[in-house]
Amino acid sequence: MQHEAVDGVVVRVWDKGENDRYLSVLTAAHGRILLLSKGSRSLRGEQRAISQLYTYANFEFYRRGTTCILKGGSPIQIFYGISEDLDRLNLATYLCELTCELTDEGEEAQEMLRLLLNSLYAISKGLYSLAIIKGAFELRAAAMSGYAPELDGCAFCGGGEDGELYLDVMNGALLCPDCLKKRGRSAPTAHSYDDVREADVLCPLTPAATAALRYVTAAPLSRLFSFGLSDGDDLHLFEAAAETYILSHIGHGFETLNFYHALKKPMKQPNRTKDTKGTKA
Ligand SMILES: [Zn+2]
Repeated sequence: MQHEAVDGVVVRVWDKGENDRYLSVLTAAHGRILLLSKGSRSLRGEQRAISQLYTYANFEFYRRGTTCILKGGSPIQIFYGISEDLDRLNLATYLCELTCELTDEGEEAQEMLRLLLNSLYAISKGLYSLAIIKGAFELRAAAMSGYAPELDGCAFCGGGEDGELYLDVMNGALLCPDCLKKRGRSAPTAHSYDDVREADVLCPLTPAATAALRYVTAAPLSRLFSFGLSDGDDLHLFEAAAETYILSHIGHGFETLNFYHALKKPMKQPNRTKDTKGTKA
């Protein structure tokens, strides 16, 4: 029987019967592969350590018919810091589900794997605020999936560089307040996460939030999170725009995302008069 081995991250797990578990593993060369881990749920199971969500490991397996059966393997990186904090854990779980949605079996996923690994590492080490990591991941993942927004000024007049702009989500473009008015559309007063199914979604952006979105679509992956958004409003608008953007293009929400929001420790709410020191989650 021919054994194969591959490096990848566990992006989804689900149980089968009493003791077995299916793993969906994201690899660089083959996208997602499905592995059956037999006995991984029993305490003595040797495969237990590499059968956990967001574990990065070398997986050894063999094929029986169309099923790939996990034979063994060794962890490359376990990201221990993620499980130390519920917000980190919930964000990592959501990013895995999002990755699952945006990748396919048999389609190379080198960039997506790097994005996920960099994000899991940053979450695990607490290197950046979770809002920065989440927003950057969402927008970059959208861009990698072919939905890169056009962020060089207003799509109609080219202006608006220094002022407020709106991200026209479904058209993947920016819109300035003047052009918005000319086109008979009214500015949104408040943005709701529940509105993602609406065809006409506009996310308000400050110049700093626009600059952050622009940075995230173009920065090298190794420096993806290295940008500052010190003001509470800027960070809030950046995060809301990135989330709305990816959800609108995918066309549905995620239970793991709802869970992340529902249990998240409260972030300072943006407040234009008092909060000028910024938000650090
Ligand atoms: Zn314009």
